[in-house]
Amino acid sequence: MGLLTGKNALIFGLANDKSIAWGIAQAFAREGANLGFSYAGDALEKRVRPLAAQLNVGFVEQCDVSSDEQIAAVAAKAADHFGGVDILVHSIGFANKDELSGFFYNTSRAGFHLAMDISVYSFVGLARAFQPILRPGAALLTLTYYGSVKVAPNYNMMGVAKAALEASTRYMASDFGPSGIRVNAISAGPIRTLAAMGVTGFRDMYKNFADMAPMRENVTAEDCGNAAVYLCSNMAAHVTGEILYVDSGYNIMASADPRTSKEG
Ligand code: NAD
Repeated sequence: MGLLTGKNALIFGLANDKSIAWGIAQAFAREGANLGFSYAGDALEKRVRPLAAQLNVGFVEQCDVSSDEQIAAVAAKAADHFGGVDILVHSIGFANKDELSGFFYNTSRAGFHLAMDISVYSFVGLARAFQPILRPGAALLTLTYYGSVKVAPNYNMMGVAKAALEASTRYMASDFGPSGIRVNAISAGPIRTLAAMGVTGFRDMYKNFADMAPMRENVTAEDCGNAAVYLCSNMAAHVTGEILYVDSGYNIMASADPRTSKEG
């Protein structure tokens, strides 16, 4: 029996086999969850359907989270298909490329709104739409990045959006707690995905990460998947409102330690 056997889990944000959502999906499948996928739009369907087939996922629905109607529609379809939902994963982020380079103060009003809408509000909107079908003991999970608490050059608007996402995680943990529903976030180290490639200088950020991180290693979507299993399983029954760092310890360091290489 797996850690998620008997749980219905809906994962938003699958784009391709590099997505963190795919690492989470594979770990959830291994642990016995009954899965559903939602993807952003037509352009991704040809990538998402074969991935769904690999894991025998029967529920695969489109939802552009900038639309309240599409969120309501996917929640209604999930209610028909699953009855109740135990796990909802929000692995979605977006900002215009213009907002991910140069100085943060140049962020446009429209770009600010767009990033907040897609990357932050969508987690709140999904939680509200799914509330009626969340079963007791349900877990909501989102993905964030350290650029929310420290300045990561070029991450700019996404850092501000992630700060709001983390605050939203805490507020929703408080709202949903009395119903026995938990809300948490994973703060992942840099991983080479489609979204990450949109951040100017990501390749250097990725390369330098392991020099600073105590474990001297980059992290993977598989690591996020395993952490997600913990947070969404009964193993984390009283863990809520938390930001769990899956980053080889990077966030505890003030500067790189010149005394030790990977070998110690
Ligand atoms: P990804 O590109 O694979 O996933 C991002 C997803 O957001 C895609 O599936 C995309 O279709 C979806 N999306 C964008 N706009 C949408 C919309 N309007 N409606 C519905 N879906 C929409 O990249 P990823 O790195 O797997 O990103 C997943 C999450 O992890 C994001 O929140 C990202 O900020 C976060 N994260 C990524 C890293 C990293 O280094 N890759 C690190 C920490 C946190």
